Amino acid sequence: MEKRVRFHEKYCKSCALCVAVCPRKIITISDRLNDLGYHPATVSDEDQAKCTSCALCARMCPDAVIEVYR
Ligand code: SF4
Ligand code: SF4
Repeated sequence: MEKRVRFHEKYCKSCALCVAVCPRKIITISDRLNDLGYHPATVSDEDQAKCTSCALCARMCPDAVIEVYR
């Protein structure tokens, strides 16, 4: 299935604003480290189907990490 929300993980600074704003509570902070040394936000493949493409996360992100598709 196509992803509804994509994260450009290398730009994420792990501020977790997107985690807080998501009404479906599907965004998590991963265990991985990106090139900036932060743990990037992500949505698991299983939870992609729960995303409503509301785009609140993308509007909240200060670093333009998130793209939302319908
Ligand atoms: S688009 Fe909406 S439902 Fe989907 S991850 Fe972002 S805030 Fe959550
Ligand atoms: S709001 Fe943006 S920078 Fe902050 S954790 Fe989410 S994706 Fe990363």
